Amino acid sequence: MREITVLDKTFKLFKSEDEIRASIKVIAETINTDYQGKTPLFIGVLNGCFLFAADLIREISLDCEISFVKVASYKGMKSTGEVNQLIGLDRSLEGRDIIILEDIVDTGNTIENIVDLLEKAGCKSIRIATFLLKPEAYKKSINIDYVSMEIPNKFVVGYGLDYDGFGRNIKELFVLKD
Ligand code: 5GP
Repeated sequence: MREITVLDKTFKLFKSEDEIRASIKVIAETINTDYQGKTPLFIGVLNGCFLFAADLIREISLDCEISFVKVASYKGMKSTGEVNQLIGLDRSLEGRDIIILEDIVDTGNTIENIVDLLEKAGCKSIRIATFLLKPEAYKKSINIDYVSMEIPNKFVVGYGLDYDGFGRNIKELFVLKD
């Protein structure tokens, strides 16, 4: 089993490039079917989603747009831990069918906050597509519409996801060694 070291931690290979691509293709095909005749606006949540967004969007055959946001959790000078601002929204969401692109949904706190913020912008519909979901950790009732892969409640790195800023460039997904 292939192992890598990122900073001070060892990770073992968890999902290959082929497995990742195949799982993304499945949800892309579902989105293509669900949104026939519509022009969705994909909103990718940076930083982690950049590879997922790039691979997913190339499998989308609909007329569509894509934009990216960063989330901020600041009130005054202090981080609140709660997302209260989306940075980088560059177009009106009024009347649009929005598909949020996330790298991973863990407890669901982040995605719930993002949906709350987007709901105030007058969108026609909001759905969520995530590369990874940790069902054992997920604590919210909001539906996660498109999930490429469900994974156990373990820390993963690679394919856009980082460990302390590193590892985003790794082609495959690795899981922390016990
Ligand atoms: P939440 O708990 O709000 O659903 O997850 C928030 C964020 O935690 C994710 O967007 C991601 O940045 C980070 N996160 C959660 N689980 C993992 C993981 O296994 N690996 C990495 N690299 N980040 C994670």
